[in-house]
Amino acid sequence: MPAPRVYKTEAIVLRQRKLGEADKIVVLYTPNYGKLEAVAKGVRRPKSRLAGHLEVLTYTSAMLAQGRNLDVVTQAQAIESFAPLRDDLHRLSRALYAAELVDRFSPEGAESYHIFQLLLGTLRRLAAGAGADVVLRYFEMQLLDLTGFRPQLQRCLSCQRALTPVSNYFSPAAGGVLCPSCGSGTVSSRPLSVSGLKVMRLLQGGAFGDVLRVRIGPALAQELEFHLRAYLIHVLERDVRSAAFIDRLRREGMGEPAGVSD
Ligand SMILES: [Zn+2]
Repeated sequence: MPAPRVYKTEAIVLRQRKLGEADKIVVLYTPNYGKLEAVAKGVRRPKSRLAGHLEVLTYTSAMLAQGRNLDVVTQAQAIESFAPLRDDLHRLSRALYAAELVDRFSPEGAESYHIFQLLLGTLRRLAAGAGADVVLRYFEMQLLDLTGFRPQLQRCLSCQRALTPVSNYFSPAAGGVLCPSCGSGTVSSRPLSVSGLKVMRLLQGGAFGDVLRVRIGPALAQELEFHLRAYLIHVLERDVRSAAFIDRLRREGMGEPAGVSD
């Protein structure tokens, strides 16, 4: 819906960039107006009263005024700043990845209260210390659902037969799962284990609490990440920058192991 001339909104700060000498443009995700860019004046000055309330990943309450081109943030008050995320590189990298995905998947002005809630819930879970990788996989699958890219996990996308509990194939290009006879030899498809399919269905349809109850070992965690990453890349048609950051931390031994025990 179009915003009034002066309006108050909750928002999560997705990213920001410098503007001129002392200002920044902040990219906000709001529950009622979707993604919007706004100018935050003077936030790069040391005494700015706004700056601390508009940090990236902050859940904030902001007052905005419509400007000629971009709206202007006139007041902001942080509601949650997710401090534990900022002290922990591997959680921070995952939170930034989630924010980047929301940014990439959201055209400006397309509102989605559910995406706002999903991102907020994801930041809270990451800050609270829930298994970081499973939090991200759940986020990815739910975001795909909310943005209209839900992968098909019930039937073979080629022959339409119901999938059986054997090793099938996941094909980003097809948009989901192929049965063994349709999937083998298809260029972009990769094997999907029985447990892999089971957990993907749970991520798609279950509540987060149900997903947390499943024991996901390192190999399965890796498989899920591989398939979802491939699918997201296919949908977005390019890699997600923050994903490379998570990979680098992992290579450098700073990331936690891929497995999630609880
Ligand atoms: Zn088939």
